[in-house]
Amino acid sequence: MIQENEIPKYLKSTGSDISKSNRKSKHKHHYEECMIQYKSTFAGKTHLNTGLYTYCTICGKINERFKENKSIVKDYIRTVDTQIGKCYSCISDEELYEKYHDKLPVFFVDDIYKEKYVDLEQNCNSDCNSEGE
Ligand SMILES: [Zn+2]
Repeated sequence: MIQENEIPKYLKSTGSDISKSNRKSKHKHHYEECMIQYKSTFAGKTHLNTGLYTYCTICGKINERFKENKSIVKDYIRTVDTQIGKCYSCISDEELYEKYHDKLPVFFVDDIYKEKYVDLEQNCNSDCNSEGE
């Protein structure tokens, strides 16, 4: 006697993951200064860049950096005397990071041109490693 085990042909996938991002829907963005690190590829090599930005502390939205008078980074743009006169140059990524990574939260995104939000969980409370000097 042959027993036919009936195999359910259509397994209902009831557990469809609702991956709704838990962005708080209605709020006024509250921006704080931060640094964002992102990768960039140049000539086949991947570099880690650090940039000065702001992010919404509620939803993580990335925004432009503050104006200099609002920023704690006072030397972001500096004047350099050259043969042809004064030039402006930005602080280098390395210097920015070295000087300010203990003063500003640092986030990492894969692609700064695509990502619109930082992962707020990356920011351990700035107090969490408050070692006295
Ligand atoms: Zn927001």
